[in-house]
Amino acid sequence: MSERFCYRCGISESEGGPLINGLCQVCYRKENSVLLIEDEVNTELCQNCGSYRKRGLWVDPMSYELEELIFEVAENALLEELEDSFSEKIREYEVVLPEELDEIDDLPVGRAVVSFEPMDFHIEHFPAIITYEVRVKAKTHELQRELHDEAKKVTVYVRQTVCPRCQKFLGGYFEAILQVRAEGRPLSEEERKAIGRLVEEKVDEIMRKDRMGFIQDTIEKEEGLDFYMGSTSSARKLAQAIRERFGGTISEAYELVGVDRQTSREVYRTSVSVRIPKFQRGDIVADKRGNVYEVERVDGKGVSLRNLSTNESEHRDWKTVKREGIDTVEHERSEAMVTSIMPGEVQLMDMETYETYELERPPMDLSEGEIYRMVEVRGRKYFLNRKE
Ligand SMILES: [Zn+2]
Ligand SMILES: [Zn+2]
Repeated sequence: MSERFCYRCGISESEGGPLINGLCQVCYRKENSVLLIEDEVNTELCQNCGSYRKRGLWVDPMSYELEELIFEVAENALLEELEDSFSEKIREYEVVLPEELDEIDDLPVGRAVVSFEPMDFHIEHFPAIITYEVRVKAKTHELQRELHDEAKKVTVYVRQTVCPRCQKFLGGYFEAILQVRAEGRPLSEEERKAIGRLVEEKVDEIMRKDRMGFIQDTIEKEEGLDFYMGSTSSARKLAQAIRERFGGTISEAYELVGVDRQTSREVYRTSVSVRIPKFQRGDIVADKRGNVYEVERVDGKGVSLRNLSTNESEHRDWKTVKREGIDTVEHERSEAMVTSIMPGEVQLMDMETYETYELERPPMDLSEGEIYRMVEVRGRKYFLNRKE
């Protein structure tokens, strides 16, 4: 049997083998380089929101701290470029720390292990420049005695841009209007504040999944609030959140705003309206049969009412509220001192006019000498509560 020799360097197989496709071990590794990444990688981040492209899709960064953000963006670009430039003999790879890479001396065929480390960087201004030392170990043939072990310096340039979402946002774009109103009255100051807080919280949550879910603008109107929203689905989600908290109904309307010049399709804008109920906590309401209540709580499911004759709390869902004709009622509030308590009757003195009057003793604890808030509906006076 005759000895074989490497066709590149001429070394004998017994010295430099086993030969792989006619090449000695060293020449095989040289001819089949695995680390094919270019010396220079270019990437960008949005100067407005810090997002960057990950496999072609704009994503929000994990960190908004500028230095961390720049490294996050640079490393993402480096890894994508690395992955795309591996020789086709690499089927899978793993990123490890440089000291872990040192320890590795065998791998299955088709597997690579990569480490990278920033060697030099200028990130005080854009473009930020980071030079990485990239090292890879890999095995591409079963006859390999030693792993490929290659290193390269790769410089990543991070430039600033404005992402498509922010271009739209900065250009004043909106897709839907969320209108928040109350039934038959303007929104109260308290409701405006509570709705503003709820919307802010909810938008933060929505934006994590829907980057277009931003609020372009908020308009205070006499009757309520208008939110100009980047996406219709975000407007709908907010409307639902508001209804859950305050109750009410949601409706949608579409307005033709123009024709898309490219597709010649009509473009509609959606208005999502949420109309919260007329009642608020503390309102005095009455039903068809003449029962008088104080509203204790209003939410998406219905209302809690305190019957002012029995002093009992009762819950009504919104359907029942409608069926029983529960509505706000004209009333007059006053304050009165309990001057004497008798078995079936209470004597009171109005705190403004000092007139005295008697009422049937209500099913609640009363003390002589204490002042109570009273409400008069259709000529009848009811105890509301004790004045603290
Ligand atoms: Zn050779
Ligand atoms: Zn952006």
